[in-house]
Amino acid sequence: MSNVFTLVDEPLIEYVIDQTDGKEYGAGEYIAASAREISEIRVRVYDARQRNEPNIICAACHRPAYPRKNVKTGKFHFAHVSESDNQDCPYNDKKRLDTSRIDSMRYNGQKEGPDHKLLKRLLRASIDSDPLFDPIQTREEKNWYGATDENKWRRPDIAATRLLDTLSNLRIAFEIQLSSTYLKVIAARREFYLKENALLFWIFKDASGVNPLQYQDDLFYNNNSNLFVVDEETVRNSHEQGKLFFRCCYYEPLLAGTTVNDIWRERVVPFDELTIDTEHQRVYWFDYKAEKSKLLETAREILWAREEEELRTRYEDFWNSVHLGKCADPETTYRRLRHQLSMHDIDVPEHHGRELERFTQMVYSAKAGEGYLTGLKTLLEVANNSYLYGKPFLWYFGRVLQHYGTWDKLLTQDKNAEQRKKMTGKKHESWKEKGKIIKQKIDANDPDFKQNRSFDKLFALLFPEITLPTTK
Ligand SMILES: [Zn+2]
Repeated sequence: MSNVFTLVDEPLIEYVIDQTDGKEYGAGEYIAASAREISEIRVRVYDARQRNEPNIICAACHRPAYPRKNVKTGKFHFAHVSESDNQDCPYNDKKRLDTSRIDSMRYNGQKEGPDHKLLKRLLRASIDSDPLFDPIQTREEKNWYGATDENKWRRPDIAATRLLDTLSNLRIAFEIQLSSTYLKVIAARREFYLKENALLFWIFKDASGVNPLQYQDDLFYNNNSNLFVVDEETVRNSHEQGKLFFRCCYYEPLLAGTTVNDIWRERVVPFDELTIDTEHQRVYWFDYKAEKSKLLETAREILWAREEEELRTRYEDFWNSVHLGKCADPETTYRRLRHQLSMHDIDVPEHHGRELERFTQMVYSAKAGEGYLTGLKTLLEVANNSYLYGKPFLWYFGRVLQHYGTWDKLLTQDKNAEQRKKMTGKKHESWKEKGKIIKQKIDANDPDFKQNRSFDKLFALLFPEITLPTTK
């Protein structure tokens, strides 16, 4: 007899509302009771209908519905009490393409429960505490007709007008949202109030026990991840301080390493601390989107810097292993390195040829203060060699020497060499002189000293501590 409690495969009525608790139930969810309970429910529905009392109603057409057994299958479903209700119930339109009408009816059906009434009372009391809300214009469940099209109207739970400054008012439609959300219903309402240049303001019963992810796709997400609750505490606050208060529940994004985590927060806030964005029908206390994009940007920067650090190490490791003859497959290693560099918008030659090697040897030796990644031993040897064969990169070389104070070391080595040459009677061109000549020739655009600046980006990666002047 287990199939006694089973719902038929394609029930006409998918949801019912129990008006005694104001909640909506899936038809299969409600029927899952014992056979005795089912018949009790049936009696209850008929009695309530007779006495005009809160009943179990079809979520779509809001007319009484009762559980009925299919004689052939023994399965159950909900049926309208009056057969004729089947005709114009939105559920009957089997060929319906969108569910917006049913959603709208289901949504309105929720307004009949005790929770909804209680919340409306609390909200009304809070609004009435605030003298900036014009008491004459605060109205409950009154039709709001469109200014441009009078045939279009909505019936917000509470409509109110708040004085913003001496010149302007803000008209607000407060809608109470108890449990489920209906995206299409919400979108249609938002559109209506936007045309009215008014604000649609959603109020929740509570957010504890609400899974915020459930709201992610619609209301919560669209409202900058803020939702507002009216409860006993906020009503007391509104009353004591003479202004409208809400409990704002929101996500605060926090950065952990390079990941942004959302932390759930709650805070009681007055109306005048809220940001009103009528154009996007948003109202929020905490600017989640702005904060999140700021943190994501920081995370990106951290990640980028980390990658650059890694690239720097790889680049040096590559040339070191080439220099020591320990690189098993330089072509492939270089190709990968080149690809990674290009991801950071840094172009290097297709092959790791002599030019790139010379540039690398020069700048790294200048930093080390001795020959590095080259067979040359001293800085002076590297400098002399560069003066002969690495002229196009002398500008980079000079900047590293200057930054690391190795220029002085070069001059000292040079002076000692001069002493030795004097003893042998050879002529010596000092680096002090050469330094001046190089600078003059570069500044004068001497063709012999034309600088190759195609490695500026690579240089900036290898030496982030050295600020490059912008190229002319
Ligand atoms: Zn119906």
